[in-house]
Amino acid sequence: MKPDYQECRRCGSCCRAHAGNISATLTDIRRWMREGRKDILIFFFIRKEDGSLIRGDVEGYQTMEGVTGIEMRNPVNLERFCVCPFLRQETEDRSACSIHETKPRVCFYYTPWKWAADSEITSCPTREKPV
Ligand code: SF4
Ligand code: SF4
Repeated sequence: MKPDYQECRRCGSCCRAHAGNISATLTDIRRWMREGRKDILIFFFIRKEDGSLIRGDVEGYQTMEGVTGIEMRNPVNLERFCVCPFLRQETEDRSACSIHETKPRVCFYYTPWKWAADSEITSCPTREKPV
């Protein structure tokens, strides 16, 4: 049974805590190509079986076999982020995703307030029972 906790408080905590592991799918990549979102594509790298990384906006690689993952990385130094580059601080305690309308599916489905009570998500404040 789902807990009756409140929904996302937009604290931005998850966009910091998980920034180093944000991934995308080929569906995300193809959608961003259709939408002309090079501003997003340059942050995602397609990893191939041989370990090489191909930037998401490079035409022709999105259907290739041998893709083992798609990773969000800094396009300048290829490092992982500590804070998602798409996170915008709106007020002291409120943040927003600047690509909310087309964010990666992994973010779209990150809805811990809907998850079962025994889910091991501890950093999200929606997991705290209301007082
Ligand atoms: S899902 Fe949880 S941790 Fe992420 S912004 Fe919403 S309230 Fe904060
Ligand atoms: S893409 Fe948006 S929702 Fe996903 S981690 Fe970045 S700021 Fe958060």
